[in-house]
Amino acid sequence: MKLTGKLHSFESCGTVDGPGIRFIVFTQGCPLRCKYCHNPDTWDLKDAKYERDIEFTINEIKKYKPFFRNGGGLTVTGGEPFVQINYIEALFKRAKEEGIHTAVDTSGYIFNDRVKEVLEYVDLVLLDIKSINPDTYKELTGVELENTLKFAEYLDSIGKPVWIRHVVVPGITDKKENLEKLADYVSKLKNVEKIELLPFHQLGTHKWEEMNLEYQLKDVKEPTAGDMKAARQIFRDKGLNVG
Ligand code: SF4
Repeated sequence: MKLTGKLHSFESCGTVDGPGIRFIVFTQGCPLRCKYCHNPDTWDLKDAKYERDIEFTINEIKKYKPFFRNGGGLTVTGGEPFVQINYIEALFKRAKEEGIHTAVDTSGYIFNDRVKEVLEYVDLVLLDIKSINPDTYKELTGVELENTLKFAEYLDSIGKPVWIRHVVVPGITDKKENLEKLADYVSKLKNVEKIELLPFHQLGTHKWEEMNLEYQLKDVKEPTAGDMKAARQIFRDKGLNVG
């Protein structure tokens, strides 16, 4: 039987999920329930808009190869890409055969021996640490932090290039001591090329309404430019490269 992936969408010329110009594959399915999720329509596998085999997807990606000069390539995001581990493994393998740079954008929540095998075909991991505080992490995502940190430490042990992502949500993830603790943790990892601090925004709210889900962050304000500058400085003070 042909291996197919349940997919949410493709984006052909992405510029915010990894280096250069990238073809982005959004996979369906996620075990987390982040309160600020912009894509709650990716949570359930059965809501997939498309089901595509590997050759279909790789042929779409290959059309954009001329744009991948200067470090661009393929990024698989979600949802949580490792939900469909066999599919993304085959996709990354084919991309590497085509000489395409590969990146995966993950929460790190799914971490096991199969994930380690797939990482052999991944050039860069965009690892989203949603909070370094276990209680805040659980409250924000519905799941435990532990696997994400194990994932981060495994990536460090094999020297896999990583960009750490963190969304700054006023009143939830922006406490100075938590940002300092995260900066401290990340500064001890030797493989982190960059930190991306992303400001919380309300742009995905309509999807929660359309899906009749209760959106708990409707009264949360977006962080100001000054808030973001202060947050970034905490990481710079630890000698980290903040993008
Ligand atoms: S991990 Fe990503 S897709 Fe999953 S709930 Fe969180 S923000 Fe949404």
